[in-house]
Amino acid sequence: MQITYATRAAPGLPNEDHVVAGPDWVVVVDGATAVPGLDTGCVHSVVWLVRNLAGALAVRLTTEPEADLRELLAAAIKTTCEAHAGSCDLTNPDSPSATLTMLRRRGDELDWLVLADSPLVLDVNGRIEVIIDDRVARLPGYTVEAVRAARNDPDGFWVAGACPEAAYEAITGALPVTSVRRAGLFSDGASRLVELFGLLDWHGLLDELDGAGPVELIRRTRAAEQAAIEAGRDLRRGKPYDDATAALVTFER
Ligand SMILES: [Zn+2]
Repeated sequence: MQITYATRAAPGLPNEDHVVAGPDWVVVVDGATAVPGLDTGCVHSVVWLVRNLAGALAVRLTTEPEADLRELLAAAIKTTCEAHAGSCDLTNPDSPSATLTMLRRRGDELDWLVLADSPLVLDVNGRIEVIIDDRVARLPGYTVEAVRAARNDPDGFWVAGACPEAAYEAITGALPVTSVRRAGLFSDGASRLVELFGLLDWHGLLDELDGAGPVELIRRTRAAEQAAIEAGRDLRRGKPYDDATAALVTFER
């Protein structure tokens, strides 16, 4: 199993994405950008949160290679909570959070976990399967209050933040490793060529990642963002650029 990845911050800003990988696993984490001026109850940055989650997951994926991915994630969220429970109010509903996607080989199986909007694209014997947790795209409203009420709620969406139980609400699945030709993990900043600009379909995005590599995929995304800005296009959530992370997984056959 070979893993190739790149992560790039939005120009001029700290990178709130993170990526970690081992010999047979990879995790993409995408921190939710804080609303300016909002009291989150946390003295840390979103960068701090994603690095703690990614670090805790890396330790567990390395030391507990057989464990259920949901249990690994719940434990990583708990570890991260413990790292700032003394200084921060983790009951604050606006506490920092992140989406994440992970893929792991376990013997003859390839298993994955997707929580919130970082898509996983699988090439299964030539057929493209897209694993998306689209609960965050189906909220009745997107005001600060509406999103707060829906976060980590059974009728809303689930994210990795201050609530370990969210891990058990993630989308999970597994396939025989022999049936998967390649896989792509993307933060939503790296899937904009599909989801925001409509310049590629999912198959095309995976081909671009596989053929040109993650650095070129992100460069092309930046060019599309730049073109949209120059055209005066109004971008989703008011973000002209987004942090972008893409990881390609291939297999020696
Ligand atoms: Zn904190």
